[in-house]
Amino acid sequence: MVPAEGAVDISPSALVIVQHRGPSTADDSVSPLVMPTQPPLRHRAGRLDYMAGNPERDDEADAQQVVTAITGVRLAHADRYGGADYRSVDGSVALEVTTVTDRAAKAARGPLLELIGSRSSSADLNECWLVSVNERHAPLKGVSERVLPHLVVLSSAGLRYVRRQSAYGFRNDAASVRDAVAELIRQGVELAASPTGICPRTVHDHTVLWTAGGGGVASSSDAALSAVEKDLNARADNFDKLADTNAASTHLFVWVDSETSFAVTRAFLHRVEDAEPEFNLPTRAPQLSGPVTNLWIVHRGTRNGWRWDGSVWRAVSASTITATPSP
Ligand SMILES: [Zn+2]
Repeated sequence: MVPAEGAVDISPSALVIVQHRGPSTADDSVSPLVMPTQPPLRHRAGRLDYMAGNPERDDEADAQQVVTAITGVRLAHADRYGGADYRSVDGSVALEVTTVTDRAAKAARGPLLELIGSRSSSADLNECWLVSVNERHAPLKGVSERVLPHLVVLSSAGLRYVRRQSAYGFRNDAASVRDAVAELIRQGVELAASPTGICPRTVHDHTVLWTAGGGGVASSSDAALSAVEKDLNARADNFDKLADTNAASTHLFVWVDSETSFAVTRAFLHRVEDAEPEFNLPTRAPQLSGPVTNLWIVHRGTRNGWRWDGSVWRAVSASTITATPSP
């Protein structure tokens, strides 16, 4: 299905292409903090035209569509010679797109690397799920086949959220549910969740999206914001590009993804209105060491996120944009 113009394509096929991080596409020669979502194949095919400047990447185009759909500002790709990614026609708005992901967790992941970011389909699920498994838990081989039947039990029982620490909370459920929860934990599952909005609105087979587990304690949205700020403040490139534009309104759009530390991504499992209080919008302004007037943080898998508009945080739901694209 071809999405309407301006819509964000969150069909399962698009997500597989974007998020698959198997060994064949892992590219450690590129800064791991900036996920190269445009497959290296494109470069090898000789389509990279240096005279035309930097090609627009999928993650950039995706972010630009989200920003335009929400703010109404038309943006044109502007990163011809290494500057900011997008500018408005009048030059008053600049947009830079980046990704915060977890280099250390990726390096430590080993055999889980093939699983992270991939999807497993199951016709028996009633909705799509996100599952994070402990990367230190063995054996990982075949874990998706062992986990799926137990997810189906939870799905059939109408349950949408299980984490290792909450197993005790199922003591009053049916024996089949208790057994499924116990077995998931035995398989190293840290969290299994089907957050609101995870299913694309187009016809699809429900899938399990495998995400990174460890890598910090997920305590609150403020803590998640701190982790993102620490990553952004450790590299000056995004700030420099925005500063060079002299734009009055400077937007930094940060994707987090299935490789980002769970301490960050936990806040984006649910839409803000459905989240627990500690995972609601951050309670403080962002603290960045560069000239960013608008900060966006959005999860590529769940499409949930936040935006700082210069004075307050607002919830972002990019899957809603898909259903009702801006005219
Ligand atoms: Zn689904």
